[in-house]
Amino acid sequence: MPKESRSQDQFQMQNFIGGEWSAAGATLPILNPALGLTIGSLPRSGAVEIDRAVAAAKSSQPSWASLSLKERVGWLIRIAEALENNAEEFAQLESLDTGKPISLAKNMDISRAIANFRFFAEFSESFKEESFPGTTSQNLTHRSALGVVGLITPWNLPLYLLTWKIAPAILMGNAVVAKPSEMTSLTAWRFGQLLEQIAFPKGVINFVFGLGAECGDALVVHPDVRAISFTGGTKTGALVGAAAGSRFKKLSLELGGKNPIVVFDDAPPGASAQVVRSAFLNSGQICLCGSRLFVQRKGYDSFLKEMSLELARWVPADPQKTETVMGSLISKDHLAKVESYVTLSKELGGRILFGGKRPEMSGALTEGAFYLPTIVEGLSPQSRPSQEEIFGPVLVVHPFETEEEVISLANQVTYGLSASIWSADLEKAKRVAERLEAGVIWINTWLNRDLRTAFGGMKNSGVGREGGRYSLEFFSEVKNICWVSPEGAATGGVR
Ligand code: NAD
Repeated sequence: MPKESRSQDQFQMQNFIGGEWSAAGATLPILNPALGLTIGSLPRSGAVEIDRAVAAAKSSQPSWASLSLKERVGWLIRIAEALENNAEEFAQLESLDTGKPISLAKNMDISRAIANFRFFAEFSESFKEESFPGTTSQNLTHRSALGVVGLITPWNLPLYLLTWKIAPAILMGNAVVAKPSEMTSLTAWRFGQLLEQIAFPKGVINFVFGLGAECGDALVVHPDVRAISFTGGTKTGALVGAAAGSRFKKLSLELGGKNPIVVFDDAPPGASAQVVRSAFLNSGQICLCGSRLFVQRKGYDSFLKEMSLELARWVPADPQKTETVMGSLISKDHLAKVESYVTLSKELGGRILFGGKRPEMSGALTEGAFYLPTIVEGLSPQSRPSQEEIFGPVLVVHPFETEEEVISLANQVTYGLSASIWSADLEKAKRVAERLEAGVIWINTWLNRDLRTAFGGMKNSGVGREGGRYSLEFFSEVKNICWVSPEGAATGGVR
């Protein structure tokens, strides 16, 4: 594949249904946001394609579920190996499609996609059925596949989040129909080709591409889809939740965030660089990025100065170059949304401490959706830029005096996904962590994930948890089997 192509039809994607490739009639453009160019097309699928994919999944699921766990684990490992052998190409595609730096795509997105398969393959060893021996009766918790499950994913971590759902879903014996974001479907399409190359059983993993309201919704409401695992924005999550909930489907919702970063004046050395990373990695387009920074008053000026020095390194540049730290945003529309929040911040009296505008780009990048990392101070913690998810490189900063005050400020938001706390006093930091309303809390670290642990948000950030046994429990049906020995049958085992 050419390193950088301007061709409008470089990629002609099709749906991957029942192991076969097919078009959908209408198409949507694939955009390269760093160049502002169309580089191909994806199918604009709807209910017809979803119906076909669900039927294919339904017919292949029983034989897939009848494989032993060891055989399914073997397939997960083969998938991981195939991804590993093609990691460079996948990183390049992910970078082209999202505008993220190629080194980030390789070291975060693709390496995590590989790890997702390896992790669940290994973790399956420790996931045992529970038994509850009693004096007269025995109980066993049995788990079986749900059948066909629907997976819907966003644009910010395309293959990373898709495989985070596919791996546990197929491990438990389900067949999947996945609908990746219409903005970033390229690596899912290439992943389908990889499945074909390794002769993965047809119909167990299906990809249907298209718009959320058309093909995503058709997947959510399909009567043969038993569970929906959705990652995306909170507003969309509410629609998906209503449609799936009223049909009694199992539902996992991983939604938006407005995550606090709490910096005490005893923050350890190096915290400022890590805080910059936690706010601006992937141009702030990670659901876990911190976007509300609370800095204790005594160290406020010096900490912000250190951050500004660190930010000098965060220069938006060509995502396809290995040394690039910051790429483009996902689209011009998203750039306009980010800019509107910076304009609003200024109107509300906010002061721009860093960035606050588009960078000067040159050559082919002048049409790209680039924006400088931006820090705003002087806003009320209740203001819209401090409360609403911007999902871009904009960090709003507020000073605080006491531990009690910062806990209250951090929790005054409708979201509850993640938080980070920076302090040399671990006792204090843990005390604060216990009172913060967020599902994932880091102390003196960020984006540090042990995949066995629970991942997910509180409040408007979601319902349910993923990771380790939480994912395997979600992607399976549980039943309790209670039995009494033949000798005890006469009394029914009841004393
Ligand atoms: P989005 O909600 O617009 O879209 C997510 C997916 O839902 C896409 O595939 C989209 O096509 C589909 N969709 C849209 N409308 C639908 C409908 N009516 N029915 C079914 N599917 C529909 O989100 P986005 O803009 O792609 O992603 C950014 C959002 O995702 C941010 O809010 C971010 O915080 C969130 N996110 C959350 C997590 C997490 O783990 N909590 C991780 C990554 C991103």
